[in-house]
Amino acid sequence: MKQDKRKILPAMLYGALGRCPSCGKGHLFARYLKVSDHCDHCGEALHHHRADDAPPYFTIFVAGHLLVPMILAFEVAYKPSLWLHAAVFGPLTIAMCLALLVPIKGAIVGLQWANYMHGFGNPDEDPAEPGAIEPNW
Ligand SMILES: [Zn+2]
Repeated sequence: MKQDKRKILPAMLYGALGRCPSCGKGHLFARYLKVSDHCDHCGEALHHHRADDAPPYFTIFVAGHLLVPMILAFEVAYKPSLWLHAAVFGPLTIAMCLALLVPIKGAIVGLQWANYMHGFGNPDEDPAEPGAIEPNW
């Protein structure tokens, strides 16, 4: 069965904004980091996502590349004591990671949806659906 090609960038953008990658209107997340089972606007099944460790990995990657130059520039410019580094960049690191985690996870769910990964768009590949095809390891 030939499936329609889904646009990846809009799906990732909708996901990063916390919206359904299919319609762009419904909510992607039921709670912080908890993806809704279905879109509350169009009914698209969203429980197929398998973001797993990708969102934390990319969050660390992005936050590290933003924070390390800031920390080094702060050190070179002001030569602050270690307690000031910890007081400034400890909370900033935590806040940045918590803020980046949701849009990055949304973008990854959107990417998976656009590529029909993990049962998105194909109930035969959904292990959560009755009668699904089991993976052949
Ligand atoms: Zn939707």
